[in-house]
Amino acid sequence: MMTKLFESKKKCLIVGVISGIFLTILLPQLLNKNKWEKNKQQTYHVNKKNEHDFAEYSQWPPFLTDPTFDLTLWRKHCWINQVSLPSQDPQLYYKKNYTAYTVCKDVISLINSIYNMKTNIAKVEYPEIFAQKIRKIFNYDNTLYAKALQQELYFVINKYTFEHTVYNPLRGRRPVQSPEVPVEQYLNETMEKTSKNCDLCNYQNMTAIDSLGRMENRYAYSAANAFKFDQWHSMFMPKQHDITKLTFEELKDVLTLAWKWFQAAHKESPLHRFPTILWDSLPHGGASQVHPHIHATLHSDHYYGSIKYLI
Ligand SMILES: [Zn+2]
Ligand SMILES: [Zn+2]
Repeated sequence: MMTKLFESKKKCLIVGVISGIFLTILLPQLLNKNKWEKNKQQTYHVNKKNEHDFAEYSQWPPFLTDPTFDLTLWRKHCWINQVSLPSQDPQLYYKKNYTAYTVCKDVISLINSIYNMKTNIAKVEYPEIFAQKIRKIFNYDNTLYAKALQQELYFVINKYTFEHTVYNPLRGRRPVQSPEVPVEQYLNETMEKTSKNCDLCNYQNMTAIDSLGRMENRYAYSAANAFKFDQWHSMFMPKQHDITKLTFEELKDVLTLAWKWFQAAHKESPLHRFPTILWDSLPHGGASQVHPHIHATLHSDHYYGSIKYLI
C-alpha cells in the first residue's frame, strides 16, 4: 500500500516536472516561433504590397510625415494668409486667437522650437534724382515707394543648424536688366563656341558609365555623372548639342531612357523609390555643360527637400 502510494506520488512528480518544463520553456518558444513566422509573413506582405503599389502609380504619391495633419484647419485658424510677413511683431505671423486651437499650438510650438523669426526695418534715403528713378522702377506706386524708404527685412534662423535666411521682398520687385547682347545672338555664339570641344557630343570616349551600364536609344544616351550628388544619379542627353534645335522626338527619347533607368535602378535596389529629374540648362541656369542634359536621381526614404510639395 505504502509502495503504491509512493509510486503514484513519484508519477505525479514526474508529470509535474515535465509539465513545468513544457509550460516555462517549450511553450513560450513555440508561441514566439509562431509569432515570428507571422511577423515575417506580415513584413513580407507589407513589402510585397509596397512593390505592388509602386508599380501601379501613374503619378508618385505625395510624401507626408503625418497623414492625419489637417492643413486646411491650420490655414483657417493659425496662419495669417499673407504674401509677405508683417513687420516688427512676430506674434502677427499667427492669427489672433490661434491659441484656442490645439493644432495651432502644437505646430507653432514645434516651429518655435526649431526657428527664430525676426523682422527689422532698414531706413533708406535717396537723393532726389535717384528717388525719381526708384519711383519709376516701382511704376509710381506710392505704397511700394514708401516701403523702399522703410524696407522690411525678414530673418529666419534655424537654432540647431544656424542656417540663416535673410529676405527683403522688395529685392524681388527690382527690374531685370536687359541682356548686353540679344538672346538669339547669345545662344548662337554659345552653341558655336562650345560644340567644338564638347565631352557630351563625344560621349563614347568622354563620359563615365554607371553600374547599370550605358543606355542608348535612337536620339539619346545615358552617362554617369562624374561628380554624383546621390548614390543613384545618372544623366540623360540627346545626341545633338544645340538645345534650341531640340525636337519632340529627341526629348521623348531622353525622358524614355530616364524612365527605364529609374525602373532598372529600383529593381537593383528596391529601397530606392523616389525619383527626381532635374533639368539645368545653359550657364545662367546653373548648368556646367551647354550640351542639353537632365539629371536623374533615385533616393531612398523620401523625395528631396521641398520637391515633394511640387508633385
Ligand atoms: Zn555637345
Ligand atoms: Zn547639369
